[in-house]
Parts: sequence; C-alpha cells; structure tokens
Amino acid sequence: MSADATEQDCIFCAIARGDIPSDDVYADDQVVAFRDINPQAPSHVLVAPRRHVVSIDGLKDDQALLGQVMAVAVKVAQAEDLSESGYRLATNHGRDGAQSVGHLHVHVLGGRALSGRLG
Ligand code: AMP
Repeated sequence: MSADATEQDCIFCAIARGDIPSDDVYADDQVVAFRDINPQAPSHVLVAPRRHVVSIDGLKDDQALLGQVMAVAVKVAQAEDLSESGYRLATNHGRDGAQSVGHLHVHVLGGRALSGRLG
C-alpha cells in the first residue's frame, strides 16, 4: 500500500519521469496513460497527471487539470475502440475507496461486460 507516498517515492511519478518501465499508450506535457500491471479487463489503462496529486480529492480546485485527465481517459477509451461496446472510468480515493497507489489515476476499463456492482 503506497497511498500516502510522497512525490520522491511515488511509483507513478517514477513512471511519468520514465524512471521505471511502463506500457505507455499516451503522453503529453500534463498527463500520462499506461497499461495497468494487473489488468482487470482486456483493456485496463491508468490515466494520471504528471504532477504529484494524491487523489481526486486534492484536485477539486484545479478544474483544468481534472478536465485534461478526464479528456485523456475518454481519448484512451476511444483509441482502445471501446466506444461502441462501452467502458468504465473510475478513480479511487482513500482507504474506504480502496485506493492503493497514492497518485491520482483514472482507470479506463473495457473489453468485457463489467459487473454492474461498484462495491
Ligand atoms: P488503485 O487501487 O485505484 O489505487 O489502483 C492502483 C492500480 O495501479 C492497480 O490496478 C495496480 O494494478 C496498478 N499498478 C500498480 N503498480 C503499477 C505499475 N508499476 N504499473 C502499472 N500499474 C500499476
């Protein structure tokens, strides 16, 4: 569990810097997207800001970056060819939200029929 990681020891900051390998599907100057190492669906991509933000709870006042992250998530879903079949965007915050990596990321999930249950 690394939900309280600082920027220095944050695994997703290391991925954004290119310090550790990732299977990248998108990158721009603000946002990166890479395949989840433990995919829960045929398409499972994580979209994260380059800037270290712990979770969506800390990004509520930065609507521009929030919008960029969500726009990239939709772009990724479309690039994965999920528009017609459908997909899910999800982000977890904190202990009860089952967040395990303490750097904001939006899960893009698709490629199979997902459960209607969210918890
Ligand atoms: P969450 O539980 O919402 O914090 O999701 C964290 C996600 O990060 C999990 O689905 C993990 O499989 C994924 N993950 C952890 N380490 C890596 C990594 N090095 N590369 C890609 N995905 C990772």
